[in-house]
Amino acid sequence: MNRREFMAGMVAGTALPILAAPREGERPREPLPTRFKPIEIPGLAPRPEFWKVRPQEIMDVCARATKCSRKEIIAHTPLGYPVYALFYGDFNDAPPQTNWSAGSSSTTWKNYMGNPPPAKQTFLFVAGIHGAEPECVAGAMNLIQLLETGADFRGRANPALVDLISKYRFIVVPCANMDGRAISPDHLHGLGWHDFRAASQGTWKDGSLIGWRGSKSWFPLPLDKVSYPGGYPNADGFNIMHDAAPGHIRTAEGRGLLQLAERWRVDAVLNGHSYEYAPTVLTPGAIDAPDKVVRANAISDRINAAIHAAGLNPNKPKPNRTPRGTINLNTVLALASGALTLTLECSVSFDKPIKPPKVKPTRTFTFDELMEPVFVTLREYLADGLEQPFLVRGDDRVYTD
Ligand SMILES: [Zn+2]
Repeated sequence: MNRREFMAGMVAGTALPILAAPREGERPREPLPTRFKPIEIPGLAPRPEFWKVRPQEIMDVCARATKCSRKEIIAHTPLGYPVYALFYGDFNDAPPQTNWSAGSSSTTWKNYMGNPPPAKQTFLFVAGIHGAEPECVAGAMNLIQLLETGADFRGRANPALVDLISKYRFIVVPCANMDGRAISPDHLHGLGWHDFRAASQGTWKDGSLIGWRGSKSWFPLPLDKVSYPGGYPNADGFNIMHDAAPGHIRTAEGRGLLQLAERWRVDAVLNGHSYEYAPTVLTPGAIDAPDKVVRANAISDRINAAIHAAGLNPNKPKPNRTPRGTINLNTVLALASGALTLTLECSVSFDKPIKPPKVKPTRTFTFDELMEPVFVTLREYLADGLEQPFLVRGDDRVYTD
């Protein structure tokens, strides 16, 4: 048994402390060496001080957080990194007596939600499912610092956002794909399309790009055929965003997120990513209850209008888009707890990629602007859920057979 098989056996075995809170003062396990060397990109600009996205920084900030009411390591990655979830608010409710699938069809919706149900709606913000996309990780880290100390790593307070979060039970997973993060650069600012693709989805042994769609031709990516796997998948080559086949969840990270949503009766999810265009919240998936699709679409319109109004996307947003048939982790998160789910794409650098000879960007975002969509999106998403609850779980009638 080589080290990799040993680690795989350990992750699949009974010792995995899923949903086990680390003891006070316990340090995360030392990270293991990466299988592939981190990509080197010559001439990359130095990151600003507030841009904390390295695995050790993520572990340190999470390990020393004390204002959160609860802290869990929801998974260990194939390389052995802990995936942290920090909880803000009251999370003392007993586990559900049934799952959402059964509970939503049972005598009362409270069989899943609890009786009484949680006094506040539960919101999950997960970042870094694709490790090469650091903008939402940077945003999540600054958000944790804000919640812990009253000011983010730039020293900026945001009392309006802190107040909004206090009206929820709020869970933040600052980096779901620690393996991908461990081999990725701190950022992709200023890079052309080719380098962005190489860092994100990697390169085959002949040096050619695996590509965004190309990377999805495999699950997992055949690591013996690549010269660099990109920071998109975890160290086993799995794209966690597509770990969404019911009955065959392949990653500890995906399983940990799904169990997290189910256990804590999550009502809404923000799934934080980045791409090579101006920031936007993606059109929601069509594969969900029709009323949730309509609601998610309306909230995404609201957020995109706010991103545009904040000067972070020069394009006028197109409202009421046609929901898409995509199936991904958002789809199964919606099944796990009934949650409404949205994906934010921050920009990695420009409003559109440098793609010679034709495409030239018109706008280069600053590091502050790269993570600002996280704060705008949370503000609008959370405000919307206070104006009207995210979900109608059921009514107060008790049904009998
Ligand atoms: Zn992504």
